[in-house]
Amino acid sequence: MAQKITPIIGVEVHVELSTETKMFCRCKNDPFQSQPNTLVCPTCLGLPGALPVPNEKAIELVRILGLALRCHLNEFSYFERKNYFYPDLPKGYQISQLKAPFCERGEVIINGKNIRINRVHLEEDAGKLKHTEMPDKSIIDFNRSGVPLAEIVTEPDFTSPEEVISYLKELQRIIRTVGVSNADMEKGSMRLEPTVNLKIENDNEVYYSSLVEIKNINSFKFVKKALEFEIEKQINEYSENKSVIKTRSKITAGFNEQKGITVPLRSKEEANDYRYFPEPDIPPFLLSAQKAETLRSKVPELPEEKRSRLVEKHHLSREQADILIDSPDRFSYFEELLLKNVDPIKAAKLLINKPEYLNKPLKETVGILLDGRTDLIDDETILSSVVSQVISSNPKVVDSYRLGKLETLSFLIGQVMKKTQGKANQLKTRELLEKELKR
Ligand code: ZN
Ligand code: MN
Repeated sequence: MAQKITPIIGVEVHVELSTETKMFCRCKNDPFQSQPNTLVCPTCLGLPGALPVPNEKAIELVRILGLALRCHLNEFSYFERKNYFYPDLPKGYQISQLKAPFCERGEVIINGKNIRINRVHLEEDAGKLKHTEMPDKSIIDFNRSGVPLAEIVTEPDFTSPEEVISYLKELQRIIRTVGVSNADMEKGSMRLEPTVNLKIENDNEVYYSSLVEIKNINSFKFVKKALEFEIEKQINEYSENKSVIKTRSKITAGFNEQKGITVPLRSKEEANDYRYFPEPDIPPFLLSAQKAETLRSKVPELPEEKRSRLVEKHHLSREQADILIDSPDRFSYFEELLLKNVDPIKAAKLLINKPEYLNKPLKETVGILLDGRTDLIDDETILSSVVSQVISSNPKVVDSYRLGKLETLSFLIGQVMKKTQGKANQLKTRELLEKELKR
């Protein structure tokens, strides 16, 4: 009997947007730095009668993120109330989006495979519950309450935990590149919720195991562990009693980091259980074609584009490219080095293996990369005068260059190097010579 087991995995990611103020009030958006319960007002405390005023900047950021994830921006969107009770959500509902999110139907390409993005919507974060040493007592900090939160939901397109991790890493790169969030998992700015079940094929029969959603994981490592554990658990459950639930039930589970196991919490709610309805205090949003165009122009070069430039044009390995892209500082330093005509691979290796070079003046690093020199002459006035001297003292060579013998340029560069004891910036020298010779 031929049996084939395929994990089916999707992921929801919550990301706190880096705005100055919260989503529906003017309280400062700074959930990590301040004293508990100092950044609060009637709106974000959920007091009766307080009115929400949407933060335009947060809407702009979520739309830019959507574009970076190749989503379609909806021309018509609105907020809805997602009703549920939890101590960190005193108003009894979360303002979120269901039917008309700001962004839908995107994609991220991971190692050549297309992962579909179902939606990117905007909602508000809840407060933070802290469980104390005191038995049966928890305390709540509402500084986080009302912080703008983007939720990014994939289709169940992953078939292995490794694929999920590649996606999450790329998603984090994209979020950081477009600058909508620091996506710092340790601080809870990026929170991960994978959903997994199994497709089990026996000859002509196909079974699906129950769908398990694993809540709020805060590291890539734990996502991988949680998924590996859950997949194995579901395989064992199937092989032990073959009890496969045909009406696909949904289960919400937590991940116990210490024990490395998933723990079922409750059967998963359907959207219906939340009694979503349009938020009556916030009018719907329209997006003009012109505004969409403006937003499009704000999307910077994406990791995928940077990567193919580094790999195809500069012949770096994919791994080297990703290490550079992962750190914006390192990447921009590398870009500046490239402008100085250094060897890209040498430069990449230097910045990856000796990150202390990031703190050195560019000139010094260029010098080291171009045969160990640290005292390059970069100054254009100095170089220009040397270039003019070389041109006027070599009229024959200059003539033959102008008649088309372009290889004589290296002789002239050599003369400049000689006059400067090899300290001239070669790239600049070349540029200046070419400019002068064209006159
Ligand atoms: Zn507030
Ligand atoms: Mn959510």
